[in-house]
Amino acid sequence: MIEIDGSVGEGGGQILRTSLALSMCTGQPFSLTKVRAGRAKPGLMRQHLTCVNAAKEVSGAEVLGAELNSQSLTFTPGQVRAGDYHFNVGTAGSCTLVLQTVWPALLMADAPSRLKLGGGTHNPMAPPFHFLERSYAPLLKKLGANAELKLRRLGFYPAGGGEIEVTIWPAKDALQPFDLNDRGAKVEGYAECFAPALPRSVARRELEQLGAALGWSGDQLREAPTRQHEGPGNALLATLVYENLSEVFTEFGEKGVSSEKVARDLVREVRAYQVAGAALGPHLADQWSLPLALAVWKRQREATFTCTELTDHAKTNFEVIERFLPLKFSTSVWSAGWQIVVEPV
Ligand code: ATP
Repeated sequence: MIEIDGSVGEGGGQILRTSLALSMCTGQPFSLTKVRAGRAKPGLMRQHLTCVNAAKEVSGAEVLGAELNSQSLTFTPGQVRAGDYHFNVGTAGSCTLVLQTVWPALLMADAPSRLKLGGGTHNPMAPPFHFLERSYAPLLKKLGANAELKLRRLGFYPAGGGEIEVTIWPAKDALQPFDLNDRGAKVEGYAECFAPALPRSVARRELEQLGAALGWSGDQLREAPTRQHEGPGNALLATLVYENLSEVFTEFGEKGVSSEKVARDLVREVRAYQVAGAALGPHLADQWSLPLALAVWKRQREATFTCTELTDHAKTNFEVIERFLPLKFSTSVWSAGWQIVVEPV
């Protein structure tokens, strides 16, 4: 039984999700105490509980403490089973975080799985659907792990109602670690504004502001089509495509926040990434560490990557991964960012 203290480092829900994912991948049980002790409302919220229940269903686990607000959990996984799964957060809570929890485990299954996920598809503090589709999934493919993602319906806080469908192909014998130190030459950059059930002027203003600041125009500024009954909600996305990876940066509009501020915040994120030389932005860096670690573990071969920022979130994730896999993460300053080495021990 691996004992994890949920208050260490960043003290948030990522400790839970990474523990669930790697417990299922390795078959090692764990007990987690002080769940999300670093947050104002500690314990399992609806979104975290959906992650626990999804992990239980996928691996036939025995679980103690799977209740709303629970601050401790014991999880003993069984064999991961491929299948057709339907996970619904039931609120506007992020369904992409549920996907993040079960995705690595389903790579270890022996047949493809089809997932339907319901909840928020574009939430602050969670990977937006388009980030998973354009940034994360293509890198997983390079590792040898294929997936297909479809956005059926946008879901924003507070209405929720989003739907994602994902097919995940098994990859346990295919994973091959690789180095990702250089983003490669720039291919293109473009922005999209999602603003279902809001006046069209919101999208136009955000895109104009962003375009003026970044020097983007014409087809680089896109008002994204939306379907009936979606929203209300507002997400402004900037996608930067390079030879070796794509990055998607997202800011959210809300009541009382001007479109100027939404655009300005996104410009700041994009510029910080553009001026840095490292390959991965801050979110991609913390999410990349887990699938890369699985590949390093499977092949017993070291791999490296560079990132523009080393967040507490990423460092905490490295520590949790080291508890489950016989690996070591080392970090060093690299150009205007960081280089991370993941090696078997
Ligand atoms: P909490 O316990 O407060 O609910 P949490 O662990 O669930 O916290 P975070 O720690 O903020 O939430 O991390 C959620 C995940 O979402 C992380 O993997 C992070 O990289 C990712 N994430 C957050 N914002 C973005 C974004 N704009 N683009 C891509 N990924 C993001």
